[in-house]
Parts: sequence; C-alpha cells; structure tokens
Amino acid sequence: MHEISLCYSLLDTVAVHQRANMNKSVSLVHVKVGPLSGVEPDLLHHAFLACRTHTIGDQATLRIDTSAIKIRCKLCGEFSRVSVNSILCASCGAWQTDLIEGDEFILQRIEFIAPDNFTESKERKHVR
Ligand SMILES: [Zn+2]
Repeated sequence: MHEISLCYSLLDTVAVHQRANMNKSVSLVHVKVGPLSGVEPDLLHHAFLACRTHTIGDQATLRIDTSAIKIRCKLCGEFSRVSVNSILCASCGAWQTDLIEGDEFILQRIEFIAPDNFTESKERKHVR
C-alpha cells in the first residue's frame, strides 16, 4: 500500500507549512487526486488517519477531490473528458491523444486553527 508513503510525504510538506505558521494546529488538508494517479482515495484516507497522529496531530481532516480525465486529440485538436477504460477522442475516436489532466496528486490547501480566529494558508503543489 504505497498510500502510506505518499501520506508521509504529504504530511512532511504540511508540517513544513505548519512550522512556517507558528505551529498552529492543522484543521484541514485538501488534496486533488486524478483517476490515473495510481492513488486510491479510500486507501489514502485510511493512511492519513493512521499517519496524522505522529506528524500534524489528530485534529486534521483530509478532504480529497477527484478530478476528471481530460485529453487533447493529436489528430483533430479537440479536448475531451473521458473515462479510465476508454481514453479516446470523443470527437473523432482517435487513440492518439495527450493527457491534459487526470494523473495528478496535488496538495491544494492547508487550513490552520488560530487561537482567537481562523487563518488559512493556500498552496497548490504536486506532492510527487
Ligand atoms: Zn479527435
């Protein structure tokens, strides 16, 4: 289950931002996962619950958004949204396509809890 190592990598990055934000408690870690990333969202969530205690604490929750698979046809130039098992141009049916989106694993946002108010840090970063 490589989600454990991905999770530690993710939480290492979050911990860097936590230190940069005066070690405020982390309330939310928001990631975006593409269907072709090789990351299974359910396994990532379980890994996060197992790993967070030793890194950023028990209070942090993980929000996982999944993206669509988007391609651009090399023959007709059209952009299409496709499914995992049919990566063909929706316009002309060609298999010669470029992947535009769908293989990413991105840290989108980290939210911190401040003692008297709520602040947040935004980041968009490829974790690997
Ligand atoms: Zn096409």
